[in-house]
Amino acid sequence: MTALLELADIHKRFGAEEVLCGVDLSVAKGEVVAIIGASGSGKSTLLRCINLLESADQGRIQFDGQDIAPLGRAHGGRAMEAGRNHVRARIGMVFQSFNLWPHLTVLGNVIEAPQRVRGLNRAEAEREGRALLDKVGLSAYAEARPSRLSGGQQQRVAIARSLAMKPDLMLFDEPTSALDPELVGEVLSVMRLLAQDGMTMICVTHEIAFAREIATRVVFIDGGCVVEQGPAAAVLDTPSEPRTQRFLARFLKDTRS
Ligand code: ADP
Ligand code: MG
Repeated sequence: MTALLELADIHKRFGAEEVLCGVDLSVAKGEVVAIIGASGSGKSTLLRCINLLESADQGRIQFDGQDIAPLGRAHGGRAMEAGRNHVRARIGMVFQSFNLWPHLTVLGNVIEAPQRVRGLNRAEAEREGRALLDKVGLSAYAEARPSRLSGGQQQRVAIARSLAMKPDLMLFDEPTSALDPELVGEVLSVMRLLAQDGMTMICVTHEIAFAREIATRVVFIDGGCVVEQGPAAAVLDTPSEPRTQRFLARFLKDTRS
C-alpha cells in the first residue's frame, strides 16, 4: 500500500538538545496510529514537524507523494508560505487546549476557515458546518458562545472545526489530557467515529485502552526515537523492547494508583 505520510530520518534540535533523533514513520491511508511515550520524549515536536509548525533540521517528510519538509523552513517568501498553507489545510490538528475563538459562536468557529481558505460561500459553509456539528453531537449549541460549553464540548467543536477543512490526515496531540475525567469519553467517542469513517489519524494519547481499541498501530517513542511499533495488542500487551516494558509498567502503575 502506498503511504499517505512517510517520514524518513527526521531530526530536530532545540539548541544543544536533540529532540528527534532520526524518526522513520510511515502511515497508510485509513490507518489510525497511536503514539505513546513519556513527557518530553518528542511526541508533540514530531506532530508539529508533520504539519510544518516546526521545521525538521534533517530528513524527508513525504505527504501524498510530495516532499513537504522544505516548506517547513521559515524563509522562502510567498511561494513557500502558500505551499505551507496548502499542506496545513490538508492536515488537521487538534491540541490539548481547544483554542476556540471566543468572540465567534460555535458555528462561527466551524465555518470561518472553510470560507476563507476553501472559498465556500456562507450558505455552503453553514450547511457543511451544521452537518459537522451534528456529527459531533452539538447541533443544539450552534449559536452558543464557546465559553458556555464544557471542556469536552469545546474539544468536540475544535474537532468539527478541523474537519471543516476536509483534511486527509488528522493529528491529535493529547486531545483529552486537559479534560475532567468524566468528559474524556465523549471526545474519544467522536474520535472513534472518525476512525470508523476511515479517517487517517495520528493520535498522541495517554489513553491506553482507547489506543488498544482503535489504533491499527501503536508507536512507542522514547528520547526522540521510535523504540518499538506494531499492532496495538503486540506493543501494549507483549512489548519486546525493555524500554517499552518499563514505560508501560510505570504508566499502568501510575494510572491505577
Ligand atoms: P512531548 O510532547 O513528548 O512531551 P515535546 O515534543 O513537547 O515532548 O518536547 C520534547 C523536548 O523538546 C522537551 O525537552 C522540550 O522541553 C523541548 N522543546 C519542545 N519545544 C521546544 C521549543 N520550542 N524550544 C525549546 N525546546 C523545546
Ligand atoms: Mg506533548
